[in-house]
Amino acid sequence: MKKKIVIANWKMNHDFYETTSFLRNLLKIILERKINHKKKVIIAPSFPFLQISNQILQGTCLSISAQNVHQIENGSYTGEVSVSMLRSIGVQQVILGHSERKKYFFETNEILLKKIHISLKYGFSIIFCIGETFFEREKKKHFSVIKNQLEKTIFQFPSEKMNFFIIAYEPIWAIGTGKTATPEQAQKMHQYIRSLFMEKYGKKISKRISILYGGSISETNARNLFSQEDIDGGLVGNSSLRIEKFVKILLS
Ligand code: PEP
Repeated sequence: MKKKIVIANWKMNHDFYETTSFLRNLLKIILERKINHKKKVIIAPSFPFLQISNQILQGTCLSISAQNVHQIENGSYTGEVSVSMLRSIGVQQVILGHSERKKYFFETNEILLKKIHISLKYGFSIIFCIGETFFEREKKKHFSVIKNQLEKTIFQFPSEKMNFFIIAYEPIWAIGTGKTATPEQAQKMHQYIRSLFMEKYGKKISKRISILYGGSISETNARNLFSQEDIDGGLVGNSSLRIEKFVKILLS
């Protein structure tokens, strides 16, 4: 059976001391409570702390992910971070397509395509976020919006690249709002996403690909969400910042 995956997206939170003490404590709890037998855990700290995080988690069952990367190999792009820089400190995973990157940093499908290209070139695993707005759901366009997002990005790549992807379905109206999709709403969309992978790449890939849910996951709703047939885990923002909450989610 596929292990469920839980990813902590810390966004622009936790300084050096908070990051390192969180990771050391979390590691201890995960090993004591044997959480690693049931869940794959990925932590996405801020850029400055990726290296120390990687050192702390080296040789353990936890891994780290960057929250973003630039789409160009290197050059005069002040303030940006390249894939080769990340690789040089041992990072091998990246979150792409997060709705906050689209909203505040104007990331388009065209930019995302370039980011996917360069990430795959360097052998990175990609946690790729897709999701609809509240307005799109109200207008009953959520399925077509998701299909379009996939067609313009991941579906541009051949089947042999699909094992580099984890999909995170994150309805934008549920991110950081405390409003979660019901398990039924989420399951329906996850089933649809899997059917799109089935149509495009066949049964084997559609079954193997992990589709996570993200959007106000908490210690109280995680169990119901994770128990849905097509939900392979979660991408967790706010509730991953407090260790007690995050551990409860991992135990769900
Ligand atoms: C996210 O930012 O990916 C996320 C799911 O955030 P939150 O859990 O806070 O809604």
